[in-house]
Amino acid sequence: MNTASPMTALKGIGEKTAALFHRVGVDTVGELLSYYPRTYDVYEKPVTFANLETDRVQAVTGFIHRAPDGRKAGRYHITTVSLEEFGMHLQLSWFNMPFLRNSLLPGCTYIFRGRVQKKKGRITMEQPEIYAPEDYEKLLDTMQPIYGLTGGLSNKTVTKAVRQAFDQLDLDTEYLPEHIRNEQKLAEYNFALRAIHFPVKREDLLLARKRLVFDEFFLFILALRQMKEQTEDTVNECVIHPGVAVKQLLSSLPYELTGAQKRVWNEIQADLMGETVMNRLVQGDVGSGKTVIALLALLSAVESGWQGALMAPTEVLARQHAESIRELLFGLSMDTGVELLTGSMTAKEKREAYARIESGEAQIIIGTHALIQEKVNFAHLGLVVTDEQHRFGVRQRETLAGKGLHPHVLVMSATPIPRTLAIIIYGDLDISVIDELPANRLPIKNCVVDESYRPKAYRFIEREVAAGRQVYIICPMVEENPEIEIENVVDYTEKLQKKLASGITIEYLHGKMKAADKNDIMERFAAGEIQVLVSTTVIEVGVNVPNATVMMVENAERFGLAQLHQLRGRVGRGKHQSYCIFVSGSDSKDTKKRLEILNKSNDGFYIASEDLKLRGPGDLFGIRQSGILEFKIGDIFTDALILQAASEEAAKIEKLDPELKLEEHQGLREKLLEYRLAGMARMSL
Ligand code: ADP
Ligand code: MG
Repeated sequence: MNTASPMTALKGIGEKTAALFHRVGVDTVGELLSYYPRTYDVYEKPVTFANLETDRVQAVTGFIHRAPDGRKAGRYHITTVSLEEFGMHLQLSWFNMPFLRNSLLPGCTYIFRGRVQKKKGRITMEQPEIYAPEDYEKLLDTMQPIYGLTGGLSNKTVTKAVRQAFDQLDLDTEYLPEHIRNEQKLAEYNFALRAIHFPVKREDLLLARKRLVFDEFFLFILALRQMKEQTEDTVNECVIHPGVAVKQLLSSLPYELTGAQKRVWNEIQADLMGETVMNRLVQGDVGSGKTVIALLALLSAVESGWQGALMAPTEVLARQHAESIRELLFGLSMDTGVELLTGSMTAKEKREAYARIESGEAQIIIGTHALIQEKVNFAHLGLVVTDEQHRFGVRQRETLAGKGLHPHVLVMSATPIPRTLAIIIYGDLDISVIDELPANRLPIKNCVVDESYRPKAYRFIEREVAAGRQVYIICPMVEENPEIEIENVVDYTEKLQKKLASGITIEYLHGKMKAADKNDIMERFAAGEIQVLVSTTVIEVGVNVPNATVMMVENAERFGLAQLHQLRGRVGRGKHQSYCIFVSGSDSKDTKKRLEILNKSNDGFYIASEDLKLRGPGDLFGIRQSGILEFKIGDIFTDALILQAASEEAAKIEKLDPELKLEEHQGLREKLLEYRLAGMARMSL
């Protein structure tokens, strides 16, 4: 067995389980080893009822007085047990586990472990784990990996598979040159890999993580630098001059560009006409007006005889871009062929779209990443814009270059990254910043409240809807179990329908819905047919409905602040006053303090860094600041120092041995090649 072996090479894993692993992106044993735990469970000593704290996972010792109760509630069967200790009560409940009535025996003592919650004044645990005291004893103080899962794939299955892989695999040898490991005090690779899955103690875990984060950044930066060598002197074959249509578009806009937009547009124009190909990152906070900048560049390309492509991370966003771009172009004297290309189109529709792209009839092509798949042949691609994708880089560019294309590249991002960091990450990109919001915006009003405020919030929502506005409600994410997350959204919507005045149209949206259904909901929301949209964070990026003025986030404490800031960016995009209601399900003071940071600032990076300060560097495995920067384990905020170190080492290598010819760099050379190939493979899936 080697790292390239398929998952079925592992004992006990057949086609069916392999298919589940495929859903989380694991097809080979090597990929399994780099499927790092999402977090770890530490089995702490059971606490007394008096020491229970809401919103923490804790264990208690419980004596069963009488057989559990079972009842039906809607679609569920609910089993409950009421525990008592010195006059204090704790209510336990389980969904759809009726057999517990017979397995929790009166007169016996068990350890129950789960998240402590307060519901209607009662202290509760939902779905607590159940252990015999002697079994719990064995787990005490150990750290158990928790993996990202999907329906049907249990944490146990993943854990067992990883263990087996370690037992049977000849691991790769260390590839990082010794001088780097010494300089940066990095753990040995195989030690790190094992310890990240099965840490024996916390210190090992921190060492392991540091090493793997370093590797991730280091390889990424090295690959970027190699790319840079290839693109730096790429002659601008696609000279683009904005012409009449661009002038016309500018004068037909319902607003004037802000100073910052004008400046950035000038920088882009200079690139498009320049000697070498453009590689530019446009950073601008949510709502700063990046879309129109993209359109100006795309239209210029078309006017100069080139095709322009705009890539969005989701189909919903791609559609929305297509619509607003068609709208903005409507009425210009030049007719522009705008083509929308998405994964949910039928095979026939796709074929026809491919044909129009190949003939050049399609001039502005908008779509998800399906766009740059093998099948698309552009007639004369001159510009690629990627929106809200935070790591357009090595992979996509290599795919394009592989087709002999050297288009201009414009990357647009709302992720708040300070310039110094951005230069490290994006290395070879020039950076423009839109640091000004359109003047007609009123600052968003924020409040952090507890759950008892909900009825008031609902009355407020009704008033806003009566005034013609629209509302987003974000339900808590349940990373460990996407099925529960969906249930939450559906249940919440059902309950909300009873709580809000009739006549208000409420719909829900979640990531597992069919693309066509998502599109339909988003389109109806954008058209004002839906007033309240209950959603998971799938609406996080890019969606623009200026008439939406209220964003209510349930269980706000479970989100990283940078992510809440992104979510908040969905409102405050029009001329109406907008509001954010962060509902905290936790009564802890720290949580409140953390969320209050959102009140103080509208600067995404400031928010992220304050969040980190409060939670401290030890809290590396809690909430990720931003799921949108696609590093597997590194987080550019939390790991800014490691990122810096990786960047410095990459610079040294580049000076010392740019082509990695030295004997001591052979391992690294191979690893880097593998890294780039893996990137290519993923692109062509
Ligand atoms: P983002 O930067 O988050 O992608 P968008 O490009 O979606 O933001 O723009 C947000 C909203 O602001 C859109 O409704 C757009 O029409 C509007 N807008 C863009 N530029 C300006 C401007 N200069 N003045 C007023 N409104 C603007
Ligand atoms: Mg946008």
